[in-house]
Amino acid sequence: MTAPIRPQPGILDIALYQGGASEIEGHAEPLKLSSNENPFGASPAAVAAMAGAAAQAHRYPPTDHGALRGAIAEVHGLDAARIICGVGSDEIIHLLCQAYAGPGDEVLYTEHGFGMYPIAAKAAGATPVQVAEVERHVDVDTLIGGITERTRLIFIANPANPCATMIDSEEMTRLADALPEQCLLILDGAYVEFADGYDGGKSLVEARENVVMTRTFSKAYGLGGLRVGYGYGPAHVIDTLNRIRGPFNLSGLALVGAEAAIRDVDWVARCIAINAQERARLSGGLRQLGIACDESFANFVLARFADEATADAADAHLKRDGIIVRAPKSYGLPQCLRITVGRPEDNDRVLAALGSFVGAA
Ligand SMILES: *Cc1c(COP(=O)(O)O)cnc(C)c1O
Repeated sequence: MTAPIRPQPGILDIALYQGGASEIEGHAEPLKLSSNENPFGASPAAVAAMAGAAAQAHRYPPTDHGALRGAIAEVHGLDAARIICGVGSDEIIHLLCQAYAGPGDEVLYTEHGFGMYPIAAKAAGATPVQVAEVERHVDVDTLIGGITERTRLIFIANPANPCATMIDSEEMTRLADALPEQCLLILDGAYVEFADGYDGGKSLVEARENVVMTRTFSKAYGLGGLRVGYGYGPAHVIDTLNRIRGPFNLSGLALVGAEAAIRDVDWVARCIAINAQERARLSGGLRQLGIACDESFANFVLARFADEATADAADAHLKRDGIIVRAPKSYGLPQCLRITVGRPEDNDRVLAALGSFVGAA
């Protein structure tokens, strides 16, 4: 008899990640506002760079990501030696769990926190531990209360997804000050570009040995399909992660596309400016319709309805009009719909559809 073939403990407890839907039956070209993508797409310079690189696809890409790290460092004023690039920031989240959390260790995150944190924790054999939020905001005191001698990693997205809320730098510093010495704080900056004036945690990373920030090309840079993100942290952490990272994790196309995208600062600045305007208009329009939402610091708004049944009905109404949004039920928010801020004409469609939904109720 051979031993039964079974995966490592924890792996079969993982619930598959649900991405935003992209199809509605009967609608050939639905309006997809379910994955917080940039509605204007990527920088044309990035698209051109990738097209140019396609002819070199027979060559292995560089393993050190030197040109991309250099460009990121230049544009954001970071130290290139302390950047690690990954297949989306998802890969950085996985590498952190793999490197720092195993059986018996705890990975802390919050009530409505991003679904990838418990997945990556379980994949590493660690135990994800969720603590409560206060009115859809991360609460530093509750997080500190959740820390034990087994806590190895704490994940916080700031701004948060799917809540779009934020906590300020003083609170974040207070949390970093309270960390026990075995514990790393990870600031997930997937939406940092949309939070005017916030450095994503850069100053905190540079001031300590136990804070890492992650960023991505998937949201503001319009390159969700390319799969590029990065982490910025203390040298000892970056060195650790590089030892387990696949040497060819990023393709040649991904490397040149992301580099051109980050250098096209005007394109991303324009997209961010339009998002800010449209986010205010969408939030204001929802509130006028009697639909509640917190102030958003990201590229989406979280609309709150009276209850789950009303949210379901609103979701069905939007679908009939060819609009796909996200029902964040698995995030403990069954009465909500998360709506990505689209182009001005997209947001007009959302407000018109919700207006007719509210009018019909
Ligand atoms: C979208 C998102 C990410 C980014 O994922 P990528 O792998 O970089 O595409 C990370 N964290 C949060 C909270 C997100 O919403």
